[in-house]
Amino acid sequence: MQIIKNTDELIKIRRNLKQNIGFVPTMGALHLGHLSLIQRSVAENELTIVSIFVNPTQFLEGEDFSKYPQTLEKDLQICKMAQVDIVFLPNTKSIYFKDELKIKAPPNRGFILEGLKRPAHFDGVLQVVLKLLNITTPTRAYFGKKDAQQFYLISKMARELFLDVEIVGCEIVRDDEGLALSSRNIYLSTDERKKALLISKSLKKSSDLVINGELETQLIKSKMKEILTDVEIEYVEIVDREFRLLKNLEIHNSIILIAVRVGKTRLIDNIWI
Ligand code: AMP
Repeated sequence: MQIIKNTDELIKIRRNLKQNIGFVPTMGALHLGHLSLIQRSVAENELTIVSIFVNPTQFLEGEDFSKYPQTLEKDLQICKMAQVDIVFLPNTKSIYFKDELKIKAPPNRGFILEGLKRPAHFDGVLQVVLKLLNITTPTRAYFGKKDAQQFYLISKMARELFLDVEIVGCEIVRDDEGLALSSRNIYLSTDERKKALLISKSLKKSSDLVINGELETQLIKSKMKEILTDVEIEYVEIVDREFRLLKNLEIHNSIILIAVRVGKTRLIDNIWI
């Protein structure tokens, strides 16, 4: 496994690679959710590149950028064990330029839900993902459906900017009790973890309602909120796969999304129906 820190060096190496490349961008603090993306990339491509870069431009002021968990040694072990070929570890200076050109998420899709709570977050995500895709020029790039809106916007960017890459969405990995894995789960105390389990319980309730024929989104959302008693709800929303708000849920075309705060920790989760 090669560890490359220098952007120009990776671009040079990449030019000489003729194989299919799978690419998994991450911010490190790797867990089984990341590993599932990496394993899929390793299975579907001749070579896999994983990037570990805590991207400053997607954090808003007051967010946990400087405190974002870092577990580099462990991350490298995980990558090695998973047979990753190249780990890309750039620093901010080798990714960003002064007064550089900026990508903007479309307001009607980028500034709702996650983007409403975290304005300009997706501008930063798209900016760095476009750079990383251009540096690695992969055949396929892997993203988790846990960050559903991010996956949607990246797919949209790839389509509309005619990027020559297949954007692959991967299923959400949860722990035994149903909590979606996240690098931020380590912030949760035992008591907060218990409260966080209400998220998947509420999503389960929504799918039970749908299975029993309920499609009215207002009703589904209010039943979900009844379960989310002990957490601070940021939003509970039901959208179609193009992130338009729905009055009536559409089977095979809907995503039910939750964002909450448990203590100081912000958690998101969703199910695709
Ligand atoms: P991050 O390091 O948080 O930027 O995440 C890197 C990638 O891993 C993103 O595409 C995430 O959507 C994905 N990811 C994070 N957690 C999970 C999870 N529990 N299941 C599946 N994918 C995940």
